[in-house]
Amino acid sequence: VNLKNFIIYYYCEMSEIRELKKPIREKASIHSHIKGLGLDSNGKAKFIADGLVGQAEAREAAGVVVQLIKQGKMSGKGILFVGPPGTGKTALAVAIARELGEDTPFTAINASEIYSTELKKTEILTQLIRKSIGVRIREKRLVYEGVVKDRKIKVARSRLNPYSQAPVEAQITLTTKDDERTLSVGEEIAQQLVSLGVKKGDVIMIDAQTGQVIVEGKAKGFEGAKTYDIETTKVLEMPTGPVRKEKEITTTLTLNDLDLNLAARNLAVTAIFSFFTEREINEDVRKEVDRLVKDWINQGRAELVVGVLFIDDAHTLDLEAFSFLTRALESELAPILILATNRGLTKIRGTDIESPHGIPLDLLDRLLIIPTRPYNADEIKEIIKIRADELEIELDPQALEELTKIGVENSLRYSVQLLEPSLIIAQRNNRSIIKVEDVVIASKLFSDVKRSVKFVKEYENLLLK
Ligand code: ATP
Repeated sequence: VNLKNFIIYYYCEMSEIRELKKPIREKASIHSHIKGLGLDSNGKAKFIADGLVGQAEAREAAGVVVQLIKQGKMSGKGILFVGPPGTGKTALAVAIARELGEDTPFTAINASEIYSTELKKTEILTQLIRKSIGVRIREKRLVYEGVVKDRKIKVARSRLNPYSQAPVEAQITLTTKDDERTLSVGEEIAQQLVSLGVKKGDVIMIDAQTGQVIVEGKAKGFEGAKTYDIETTKVLEMPTGPVRKEKEITTTLTLNDLDLNLAARNLAVTAIFSFFTEREINEDVRKEVDRLVKDWINQGRAELVVGVLFIDDAHTLDLEAFSFLTRALESELAPILILATNRGLTKIRGTDIESPHGIPLDLLDRLLIIPTRPYNADEIKEIIKIRADELEIELDPQALEELTKIGVENSLRYSVQLLEPSLIIAQRNNRSIIKVEDVVIASKLFSDVKRSVKFVKEYENLLLK
């Protein structure tokens, strides 16, 4: 079945749904090479390990923090990374999360992202906090395994997901230009989609009450629903093979995932939970989820996975946000809070009160402060090498030298960012390996921050006219 380019309308009450501006997870991908803190058994930092380079003292301090977290001794406390831009503060936060376990939720934002015209700061912070707490659910499921059109697939019957009205879940992956989503749909719906031979240009609507699939036309109540333009779509059909066994499956969902699922059910949307992204969530929903999670934990079916919430440029938070976070630290369900800043003594946003790092003293008292220092040329070179490896980019030794020089003179972030443009330039010259001339061209085409600021200064008069 060819399911390319179709549009899905989904049924929901848009009036109740207010989306948070932009997915927050993007920042993580530039840190995908980081697998841990790279410490030996005595907690000493190896020069290069787990994708991390240098920054030994900070890594060792972070190692102690990980131990404190594992011993449950970080409750009510947080961490503050202080250091110049590009010294790996985010990288270290990612490494802490990795050390805590593969399924440890990690959420990273820039503090400025909490200022939104549509959502209250406290709502945004609550969502961020709940995204940073995982619930590891163990359940026995009937699993069907088989091969459908060369793709190995697995379909599991969920017993535990209380919000799934569909007895068996099948998955459809939808890829749009800027994101990929996986929908969980019921077996019947999946089979109907397959048998209907949904094709390009089709409009699929799934009736919230009956689960009936409507392929054409607009149904009542769908007016104003959101349209997704989907480039490629695969429907995983139900496997035909006889394999059918009971398996213990462990899934980790975040509290926020559960909130969204429940909110979706309350909106009578049966099928397309994952289409719901961030929006304002009713407090009752959160209370119900918390109650349910507690029950699961008491019954031994689930455990909490405390994750990491990382907030960069923490000095741009205001008093309301700080006091909210301080209170959150004390609550029963708190993630590991990691703040980062490059400011010294500065005014707390929106006030005339000066405070170290622009952070109120009562919160500062609860933070373990870890300084990060700038990298030297050797360290920068190794980081560039690791990033190039991660991106499967081949660098000529001279190109590596040039990028290192740029890293030292401008910034690490800038030189790392030049890798991909340099590759495109190399490819235009029919090479798969980046040479020094490609890097030179890329660095001419793209400005680093210092240069762009200077540029604006020089042309200020012209630009303002
Ligand atoms: P900061 O938060 O201090 O501004 P950052 O962690 O966001 O810094 P960038 O400045 O974006 O890091 O760093 C550029 C790249 O270098 C990222 O891909 C980051 O993961 C990586 N990086 C930074 N420090 C290290 C390190 N010590 N070892 C390995 N990679 C690092």
